[in-house]
Amino acid sequence: MADYKRYDVVIIGAGPAGMTAATYASRANLSVLMLDRGIYGGQMNNTAEVENYPGFDSILGPDLSEKMYASSTQFGAEYGFGVVENIEIEGHNKIIHTDMDNYIAKAVIIATGSEHTHLGVDGEEDYQGRGVSYCAVCDGAFFRNDDVVVIGGGDSAVEEGLYLANVVKSVTVLHRRDKLRAQQITQERAFDNDKMSFRWHTEVTEILGDGDKVTGVRVINNQTQEVSEIATGGVFVYVGLKPNTQGLENLNITDKAGWIMTDDRMRTAVDGIFAVGDVRAKELRQITTAVGDGSVAGQGVYDYISALPAEVKSV
Ligand code: FAD
Ligand code: NAP
Repeated sequence: MADYKRYDVVIIGAGPAGMTAATYASRANLSVLMLDRGIYGGQMNNTAEVENYPGFDSILGPDLSEKMYASSTQFGAEYGFGVVENIEIEGHNKIIHTDMDNYIAKAVIIATGSEHTHLGVDGEEDYQGRGVSYCAVCDGAFFRNDDVVVIGGGDSAVEEGLYLANVVKSVTVLHRRDKLRAQQITQERAFDNDKMSFRWHTEVTEILGDGDKVTGVRVINNQTQEVSEIATGGVFVYVGLKPNTQGLENLNITDKAGWIMTDDRMRTAVDGIFAVGDVRAKELRQITTAVGDGSVAGQGVYDYISALPAEVKSV
């Protein structure tokens, strides 16, 4: 372990939650490393417009991400690349293993967020990247001349459907109920948009293709049991989120669904390990709540490290 780089705090994930935790912890004079398996910004990079972040009428997700990154590094926090594979506990030390390097920290903040759930129907994996997408902002432009379908009824499905309506020929939202889960204002915009339509009580049972690319979806109306096909070149799947907690099972800090349980100071059941943002078991997954969590944990790690025995603190 002699060659492992040491930090006071290692933050896993550089989305809004991790970046805010880095701002607070480094501003408290702790040495901080933010590790991410990709570019900083997290889900904000896949969001076109953010209209509910205080201080901005509207801001592009990647622009907000750049601003947060600048804040998070201004007091000396470092940003590094690496897929965190697991965390070992040895006394007060937390050993963070990544696919590249290993690190030792006095405290760890898990800010790994969540990712899109797959639908789990035939054709979905086969045609991923060939008509099946989980990111309208990334892939919408490939479907300029297409009638696309969006699956789901939450904020992601309806907002990304609205984004797609600006880019493609038409958008049909396929939802398994007849009520959307999305915020009211978003629903109203979608209902008012001439390029958007909705098919209710509609479940996709298969994504169809010609071997090369998507050609349509097979659906069933769960009220009438009628089966039909919808021709489309693009299928955008937004059927919910699952937590990024793979590799952390040994810590035993999640609920049954894998979301990390914390107290209101973002402390998990393991001393010196905190969790923030979407990866937590919580009600509202937003940028505002992620940064709120991040600030609480950034202060929390300072309190935690300050209370460690002098011989541990000084290493
Ligand atoms: P994330 O943003 O998910 O960041 C987690 C980071 O952890 C990622 O960068 C990931 O690469 C990294 N990571 C994961 N696992 C590992 C690992 N093992 N090793 C290293 N790094 C890892 N909220 C709003 O407030 N307004 C909006 O307009 C809005 N629009 C949205 C649109 C869409 C399509 C989606 C999906 C979400 C939207 N949200 C919006 C929700 C918002 O984006 C999230 O609540 C927020 O990004 C959560 O922040 P986070 O830092 O907890 O996680
Ligand atoms: P979500 O809120 O969990 O919605 C998932 C949708 O997919 C629901 O409508 C659900 O149907 C449907 N669904 C789930 N499993 C399905 C299946 N197997 N087959 C067909 N449909 C299925 O997920 P989300 O929309 O990705 O949002 C996740 C979080 O991010 C939420 O907290 C959301 O508020 C937040 N977010 C916020 C914004 C914003 O603030 N602007 C934007 C995007 C996301 P039912 O309705 O029948 O359950």
